[in-house]
Amino acid sequence: MHHDRMNEPVPAAALMALAAVLGDRVTTSRDLCRQHANAVSWLPVEPPEVVVWPVSTADVVAIVRIAAKFNVPLIPFGAGTSLEGHVNAPCGGIALDMSRMNRVVAVRTADLDCTVEAGVTRGDLNRHLRDTGLFFPVDPGAETATLGGMASTRASGTTTVRYGTMADNVRSMTVVLADGSVIETGTRAAKSAAGLDLTQLFIGAEGTLGIITELTLRLHPVPQAIGTVVAAFETMGAACEAAMMAVTSEPLIARLELLDALTIGAVNRKSALGLAEGPSLFIEVHGARATIDTHIEALDSLLRDAGASRCQRASALEDRTRLWRARHDAFWAVCEAWPGRSAVVSDACVPLSRLSDCIIATQADIRDYSLVAPIVGHVGDGNFHAIVMVDPSDVSEMARTNTFLDRLGRRAIAMGGTCTGEHGIGQGKRELLALQAGPALPVMHAIKRALDPSNILNPGKIF
Ligand SMILES: Cc1cc2nc3c(=O)[nH]c(=O)nc-3n(C[C@H](O)[C@H](O)[C@H](O)COP(=O)(O)OP(=O)(O)OC[C@H]3O[C@@H](n4cnc5c(N)ncnc54)[C@H](O)[C@@H]3O)c2cc1C
Repeated sequence: MHHDRMNEPVPAAALMALAAVLGDRVTTSRDLCRQHANAVSWLPVEPPEVVVWPVSTADVVAIVRIAAKFNVPLIPFGAGTSLEGHVNAPCGGIALDMSRMNRVVAVRTADLDCTVEAGVTRGDLNRHLRDTGLFFPVDPGAETATLGGMASTRASGTTTVRYGTMADNVRSMTVVLADGSVIETGTRAAKSAAGLDLTQLFIGAEGTLGIITELTLRLHPVPQAIGTVVAAFETMGAACEAAMMAVTSEPLIARLELLDALTIGAVNRKSALGLAEGPSLFIEVHGARATIDTHIEALDSLLRDAGASRCQRASALEDRTRLWRARHDAFWAVCEAWPGRSAVVSDACVPLSRLSDCIIATQADIRDYSLVAPIVGHVGDGNFHAIVMVDPSDVSEMARTNTFLDRLGRRAIAMGGTCTGEHGIGQGKRELLALQAGPALPVMHAIKRALDPSNILNPGKIF
């Protein structure tokens, strides 16, 4: 669904109206516009024509009304770390940079919740919570990702196996609709049976249905004790089988990540960790001080029985932090290991029982299509990324990469899974969404038309 205003510049009257509300928080600077387009992925860079910085919900209402009046596309922008061209402006228009809406509005420890403006980053929220004994668990690799952007991509991360995705950790949101009206999607209650679930409707909507200005989030107690085990295996199949056994038998698992031998090599070069260079599981357990050691022991013997050639434990904060920092930096370690190449990241997610088959078939494809593609995965959720390192100027390699990605998406769907576990559809996965959603796709289109009939909100994404 493209916007009908293709190739018409933002009218001068719209710029004047924006400046009247925002003063110097409006720019048409080419450099700043460029910085507000897709920066991370291999997709083309399509900058907006204008960038605005709201500081309140009232500002967002005024901006949306101006965009609606002049029929100009509006592309919400958090930190721009999304991977499927989500923040590109294929029809031009205005980037709505939420980074100055960065206040933590309230932390209510008794209710295990907090309310934040949409531009607060996940890193800043957890720094703010440091002395409360609580934390916000969802941790996509990008530390600078904003809570509004994370809700809009239905993000998840290494702790999802225990604490869930954004869909499980948002109680309610303040949303500005395409006509400038403001709604609260839910309440602060732990549950509600009142009507349709509008919170879930806007989670994962990628800015196509409304602008999130505030979120009320669930918080979790910081665990009393944490332990980490890293286990290396001979084959990816053995590592996947071990992951499945671990997740079904060990109740304290809070993180369960898989890194293949190529990724471990890259991580070792970047972080000098000296890890055994085979397919490896990084596992973290969260629990009570009195019992955590028993669980680590049980996990250790489970992994060895499942064929782990080497198990390494880390319980000191410093050691754990180094290991998990290395895991979070795995994407950058892979990029550094193949300098001059660009990363194209797949995101298949399948039922756990199909994970091993899906990864093994994917590795066969990587070989058959002569690609370089290290694999990392949130395997506790059945989700993995093949990071294809491409030379975008190599036409044949790009064609092989596209075929590979299409086959992988279709394989995941055929296995009862999804073409994207956490990154979203954006511009890159619209065809696969049509295949996955089938007769549900027209329902999504009908909702989009009902909420944004002029298609001004992030046109060219999802639909
Ligand atoms: C190294 C690396 C690792 C990553 N690892 C993970 C991972 O483990 N898990 C994961 O889920 N993702 C991961 N990502 C992807 C990315 O970090 C997430 O998609 C993140 O949620 C995007 O947040 P953002 O603030 O950067 O959003 P942006 O990229 O700015 O925006 C994302 C989408 O949300 C919309 N949007 C932004 N703010 C709002 C708002 N306030 N209201 C309405 N719409 C809005 C935008 O229009 C866009 O469609 C990774 C990315 C990188 C670079």
